[in-house]
Amino acid sequence: VRFVAATARRVISDGERAIGVELDEGRVSAGSVVVALGAWSSQLDGLPEVAHPVGPLRGQMVELELPAPPIGHVVFGEGGYLVPRGDGRLLVGSTSERVGFRKEVTVDGMRTLLGRAARLCPALAAAPLGRFWSGLRPTTSDGLPNIGPSSLGGLFWASGHHRNGILLAPITAEILAAYVLGAPLPVDAGPFLPTRA
Ligand SMILES: Cc1cc2nc3c(=O)[nH]c(=O)nc-3n(C[C@H](O)[C@H](O)[C@H](O)COP(=O)(O)OP(=O)(O)OC[C@H]3O[C@@H](n4cnc5c(N)ncnc54)[C@H](O)[C@@H]3O)c2cc1C
Repeated sequence: VRFVAATARRVISDGERAIGVELDEGRVSAGSVVVALGAWSSQLDGLPEVAHPVGPLRGQMVELELPAPPIGHVVFGEGGYLVPRGDGRLLVGSTSERVGFRKEVTVDGMRTLLGRAARLCPALAAAPLGRFWSGLRPTTSDGLPNIGPSSLGGLFWASGHHRNGILLAPITAEILAAYVLGAPLPVDAGPFLPTRA
């Protein structure tokens, strides 16, 4: 495999098939092109239209830093979660906000997360604050990822996994590899076709 670190600008097609990608510096020719730009996937030029484009859903996170884990397992509640790390750090997640491509961490976001943490586990009200950050989940309008061939030959999608893109990476790779190679699919991936209505 040859890795090229660059910004993809446009899918190049010969009118019937995708034949490569235009990068910020130069071009790459390819027999198959996979759109996997996360929340930015639908920003790429040269894509055929899909019924469910991929866009961003912001999630803010905060980490508390305790001397030892205050709880022994993940706790879900109030629309969020607490994840204790072995060394005393504790992750509080997460917001779901449609604010476009804005990655700020906000007062409202922190108020939501810290209030939730203290209600789920009152001892956390005295916990020291550590880091905070946000990320952009790649999300579609029907909540399903776009995985598989598009209406342009040789162009495939693997994007829009919302809250579960890390968990679903291995099966997505297996499905994509099968589509690209014309092999049998490991599971029924029909509901995720980018060409669905
Ligand atoms: C707060 C939060 C908590 C989460 N928790 C979980 C969890 O517990 N479990 C889980 O499974 N998932 C979780 N997710 C979701 C998960 O992070 C995403 O579903 C996953 O990262 C999507 O992977 P991806 O490769 O499609 O996109 P990304 O991880 O966003 O990767 C896309 C990459 O493409 C790059 N890129 C964009 N445009 C271009 C371009 N034009 N040219 C070149 N590169 C480009 C971006 O810089 C980025 O590096 C969480 C997300 C958030 C925000």
